[in-house]
Amino acid sequence: MSFVAEFNALRIAELLERSRLATSTDVQKSLVNGSPSLADFAHLISPTAGESLEALCRRSQALTRQRFGKVIRLFAPIYLSNECINNCSYCGFSRDNPILRVTLSVEDVLREARALKEQGFRNLLLVAGEHPKFVSNGYMAECTRALQAEVPGISLEIGPMETEEYRPIVEAGAEGLVVYQETYDREIYSRMHTAGPKRNFDWRLETPERAYDAGFRRLGIGALYGLADWRMEAISVAAHAAYLLRTCWKAQLTISLPRLRPSAGDFEPLTHMTDRELVQLVCAFRVCFPDVGLVLSTREPAKLRDGLIPLGITLISAGSHTEPGGYTGAGKDRIHRTEKGRIVELASGASEWASVPERATNATGQFDIADARSAREISELLKRLGYEPVWKDWDAVLTA
Ligand code: SF4
Repeated sequence: MSFVAEFNALRIAELLERSRLATSTDVQKSLVNGSPSLADFAHLISPTAGESLEALCRRSQALTRQRFGKVIRLFAPIYLSNECINNCSYCGFSRDNPILRVTLSVEDVLREARALKEQGFRNLLLVAGEHPKFVSNGYMAECTRALQAEVPGISLEIGPMETEEYRPIVEAGAEGLVVYQETYDREIYSRMHTAGPKRNFDWRLETPERAYDAGFRRLGIGALYGLADWRMEAISVAAHAAYLLRTCWKAQLTISLPRLRPSAGDFEPLTHMTDRELVQLVCAFRVCFPDVGLVLSTREPAKLRDGLIPLGITLISAGSHTEPGGYTGAGKDRIHRTEKGRIVELASGASEWASVPERATNATGQFDIADARSAREISELLKRLGYEPVWKDWDAVLTA
């Protein structure tokens, strides 16, 4: 049975009601339950648990130290392409947004990776919009193969593929696949995704299972907070995580908690999750999923990131760019503008466009980041907090 069947049978309304009505006794019991259930998770994300976070934070911190030690893995995203055939209302790369686009060549990708390697990174997340013509599995395999000799940790965040399409990418050296469901609310999902293959909710929901079958050894899931009720999303992610831990048990699982950021298209979030609620959610995930990696990106502001690091986070990005070529300017000579999905060559030529100082930028980014500190600054911060920054925790030789 795939997670789709389990998700369809999930009693979300009942769990939400449990959360809404949770008493402080319920919260106390769930906090110390050695094998927490989804009902315990619902208690820990309840308004009652949110009123006094100290006990939850303490438990989360203790579990994180016990399971992971005082180490934080660092990673950086490399955006390979911002071409996309989907319209996702909340995303700057949406097909219909009139933005500057480019797909990096393999040489461009290597240039970007080497710049990140200089900064210390050995874990890279290759990110791309969904466009089978530009971002095929052959292209992804080629990029991975080229990078693999230099960077031991390569994960992907790309449009969902078939198991067989993933296999050559895994064989080329990719170890992880990240796919966010965005929202687990079918009705909102259908409103947010108005064109393109991403409209298929179930196909996306089953992606981690196909990735696992293809041999990926790290799987990442999550919801994008700002679309549906955050507690509903969190319970769904928790159910998804529990399913994957049971059925894809050889893989390492990570959960991300991205909140919507401003982007091209000027989408306004439909719901709001406060900073305090984000802290509560991080801690609830840690208490109920002690061995799962929790990811925090540069979407969140510096002060909040600093506060979350000791509470349960195990993997963070730093110095991120969300546009292809963002680290080195690679691909700048091939930037084009698209309008409603059609390429409109820049009248005066891309290089001339790029030579105007205020436009001397790369392709358009996916969203604005909130924490612009460099990798070195984050690394120093971690050391000041008593943590060891981990740039590399894997090498292909370990699979030999
Ligand atoms: S969220 Fe992904 S699929 Fe949707 S428009 Fe953005 S890049 Fe494309």
